[in-house]
Amino acid sequence: MASECRFCKSPLEYVLVDLGLSPVSNHFRDPSRVDHEGQTFFPLKALVCESCWLVQLSDVVTPPHFYEDYAYFSSFSASWLAHAERYAQEMQERLGLGSDSFVLEIASNDGYLLQHFKNAGIKVIGVEPSDNVAAYAKEHHGIESIVEFFGKSLGDALRKKGISADLIACNNVLAHVPDIGDFVSGIGPVLAPDGTLTIEFPHLLQMLTQGQFDTVYHEHYFYLSLLSVERILGAHGLTVYGLEQLNTHGGSLRVFAKHSASEINDHALAETLAKVRRDEANFGLNSLAGYSGFAERPAQCKADLLSFLIDVWRQGKTVCGYGAPAKGNTILNYSGIGPELLPFTTDLSPQKQGKFLPGVNIPVFHPDHIKATRPDYVLILPWNLREEIVQQLSDIRDWGGQFVVAIPKLETF
Ligand SMILES: [Zn+2]
Repeated sequence: MASECRFCKSPLEYVLVDLGLSPVSNHFRDPSRVDHEGQTFFPLKALVCESCWLVQLSDVVTPPHFYEDYAYFSSFSASWLAHAERYAQEMQERLGLGSDSFVLEIASNDGYLLQHFKNAGIKVIGVEPSDNVAAYAKEHHGIESIVEFFGKSLGDALRKKGISADLIACNNVLAHVPDIGDFVSGIGPVLAPDGTLTIEFPHLLQMLTQGQFDTVYHEHYFYLSLLSVERILGAHGLTVYGLEQLNTHGGSLRVFAKHSASEINDHALAETLAKVRRDEANFGLNSLAGYSGFAERPAQCKADLLSFLIDVWRQGKTVCGYGAPAKGNTILNYSGIGPELLPFTTDLSPQKQGKFLPGVNIPVFHPDHIKATRPDYVLILPWNLREEIVQQLSDIRDWGGQFVVAIPKLETF
């Protein structure tokens, strides 16, 4: 069964990276079942479309609704919350939003972002397919959500209800929707004639240059470049008019787009747009040159991380993990690291505490467990939050503990 491009339907042949078989990264395991039930592993392989340069996972046959039974709450990273607050502030200033404006967020999660617009007196509505997460947004922030997946039919339905948004926020969702064309085609109908759409996504160029292969996991269908996003938006009547580069998720882009017929201009944003277009072209993202060579990065990372953990084990020292992000599950499964080498990890999210990581069966505890056990090393799995975590866990220095990251290369500090 050959895969075809989820956007332009061309056959997909070029393999960017093949991580073998892996369980679905958000399928954390319940302790009452971990000793009795097996777990299914699926191919985890990213391919490059040589027609439109959209990087995407190979098709994997899974049962219906396979990815939906895990509710992710955004509100467990302080730096992410601060990022959301800055976004709301910046958009109000840049776009001149006020009490007669309307903001729509797609994948609005628990309302952590829309609350800032609401508190400024701006009308808001969210679209959030997970009903318990939407209920939390209502209860804690008073934010109404439409509990559905976004796409063409919902966009048309909202337009019929009179929704015309001055700002549509679409942050860290585009890579996660399987039918990217249907999703984007729903945006035009609900965007006001002079409205702005912002899309944030981890930048493929960063993944390639920094060896961030662990951002590949099953729920993450696409690995987006400016090149591919401009092409997809353009096919649906939307034009990118500006860009910002962000530090989030190891290096992200924030694209500013408008209806192609609209006359919005922003000189500063346009300069960054031109620069990143040049960066991508210079790196070769519009040819296979930019994609070759990445396939070897995971093996190097695996060898370095395994030899570090084996040394720790041989020396009788101790190590634990910090964080239970999807990217951690990719690197641990790919590297074959179980509790024999990493006895436990920790996470602030109560939904993950008391569970086991998929595939590798490493238990997840509250971060207090680190202080109680005083390990020699703490492996930071969400390396994108490295600075925040080093601050939170500065106590480990009291007993001579050190931090470790595996990406972009193995480092202890
Ligand atoms: Zn394509």
